[in-house]
Amino acid sequence: MKTVTIKNIYKENLVKNEEKKVRMNVCLSTDSKEDILWYEVDEKYGPYLCDDRCDGIVVSVFLTAMRFGFEVIKSSYPISEKLYYNLTYQVIPHFFDLDKKEGKNYPKIKLEAETTSEKYNGNAVVTGMSRGVDSFATLCEYKDFELEDYRITHFCYHNIGAHHGTDTLTGKSKYTSRELFEGQLQGTKEFCEKYGYELVVVDSNLYSFLNIFFGGIPFNRTHTYRNIGAALILQKLYKRYYYAAAYNLSEFRFAFETDCAAYEKWLIPYLNTENMEFYSANQEWSRQDKIERIINLEESYDHLHVCLVGIKNCGQCVKCKRTLMELDAMGNCVLDRYKNSFDLVDYKQNHRAEWFSEIYKYKINSGFFQDVFDCALKHNPALIPEPELEIQYNEGSKLTTTKKNVNIREHPSAKAKQVGFVQEGAEFDLIGKFEVWYKIRMEDGRTGYIFEGSAALTRNWGYIAVKK
Ligand SMILES: [Zn+2]
Repeated sequence: MKTVTIKNIYKENLVKNEEKKVRMNVCLSTDSKEDILWYEVDEKYGPYLCDDRCDGIVVSVFLTAMRFGFEVIKSSYPISEKLYYNLTYQVIPHFFDLDKKEGKNYPKIKLEAETTSEKYNGNAVVTGMSRGVDSFATLCEYKDFELEDYRITHFCYHNIGAHHGTDTLTGKSKYTSRELFEGQLQGTKEFCEKYGYELVVVDSNLYSFLNIFFGGIPFNRTHTYRNIGAALILQKLYKRYYYAAAYNLSEFRFAFETDCAAYEKWLIPYLNTENMEFYSANQEWSRQDKIERIINLEESYDHLHVCLVGIKNCGQCVKCKRTLMELDAMGNCVLDRYKNSFDLVDYKQNHRAEWFSEIYKYKINSGFFQDVFDCALKHNPALIPEPELEIQYNEGSKLTTTKKNVNIREHPSAKAKQVGFVQEGAEFDLIGKFEVWYKIRMEDGRTGYIFEGSAALTRNWGYIAVKK
């Protein structure tokens, strides 16, 4: 049996840059190698590190181990009974089933460890604080939550691989992942100090450990396991953890080759133990809902950080671009609240017009920008340019409505502002067509868009197909 063994867990005291730390070392071995996975916290949280059970380690590594053909995770330290049950009977079988259907031969990994139901008495309610949109949206939701026992008491910040520094637009960061972790952490520390939040930092070598011990596996397939694993390391301190959700249940998708966030609404409750409960936060909020909330959260103004590649927001990477456009789309003055988080002069002078000019292209190619488009339509339609028409009709062409109660829209979208309302038989000068929308000229000279299913050409003087 191909086995990975959790052989030994022990704490050691360290001093780093004059700060006292406690590191929990976990010795893992296979029949051919042995290596140390470590988690490190400030001295004051040292007593809460769980060196007496293997929950956090198992959650952090089991999926990766399974992908690399391991059949057993063996531990000489006990595992929480509930977690053992959930992983063995509720989670792992679904991966096994998935693999079988895809004709893959990964083993149904087994956990071999004593189980325990012993209770700790952790009392903290925690969520991650990266200072991104999801973190601040979770703060909005749970800051003054109706049930006192469910209000956030602590923030955490984990070094588990999120600081990989790669971006599809700008490429690789000039910083190493350690520089990104430490640099971005500094901003989170300043934020927590300013607003009086308690911050628990967990540093770890998990990212390089998984890559070296098992082999490379894309971060987005395991980030939920890594974050929850790091939280379970401190289940003597925590009782409840909110995981900010990127996908809603309506977007559920279960596959290994996908961002694990797409199925985490199912997964997260199965990572509970007798001591700690995990929940998704921002359950039904869309990206736009989250933005609408955080723009009223003063705490986010000077501290929002979304960047993939910079210690400060770079203003260029895909996440900076999306967020700048979203904030801008929220309407006048909203963006200016974030003047200390982004270089707004650079954005307005060098990027705004160009990025919005491409919005029709983006919204087709990427759901990422559909939200920006919808948001701008609702709050700041002046940012939406006229689309490049696919068909231009010659002067004299006419369009007549064929339905009752037809809306004329400012932009080619059912979500766009209504600029006119007509009945069946209304005739307009026809200018062109974009996607499923006719562009027309109204009597007063203004232009608008009518859905193709609500009208028909009544006089066609020919057209030029501009693009297909
Ligand atoms: Zn950036």
